[in-house]
Amino acid sequence: MKIVNVVAAIMQQQERILIAQRDSQSDLAGYWEFPGGKIENGETPAQALIRELEEEFNIHHIQVTDYIATSTIQQPERIIQLQAWKVVAWQGDIQLRCHTNFCWVTPDEALGYQLAPADIPLLLAYQRI
Ligand code: C5P
Repeated sequence: MKIVNVVAAIMQQQERILIAQRDSQSDLAGYWEFPGGKIENGETPAQALIRELEEEFNIHHIQVTDYIATSTIQQPERIIQLQAWKVVAWQGDIQLRCHTNFCWVTPDEALGYQLAPADIPLLLAYQRI
């Protein structure tokens, strides 16, 4: 089965983290997630994350800091390996280009949203660090 390596950002601002809602055209439409996407050939996870956040939010000078955890989930025809990294600094205001919504929430509040299944263990790992 095909393995897809995906990277996601836990963007942190004071005590809150960002979650974004997947748009109606995507798989997992309407689910909330940590923003990110597939790692392209030759990219490090940090490079992929910076590219994805620039594309999705039009922000720049993104600083990727700590590795949080990886979760693995099986989808009908592929296995997603989703790794999360902490992002604490960037420049620019977030402009949505791919998602329908975003919000800043505490980790406890995030648990009340319909999160993409692979993102839940990442949130729990983040709460433990
Ligand atoms: O965002 P993109 O569609 O490129 O991500 C590839 C796949 O990884 C998605 O189809 C989704 O299943 C999964 N994903 C996820 N949680 C995220 C980001 C992506 O489950 N935070």
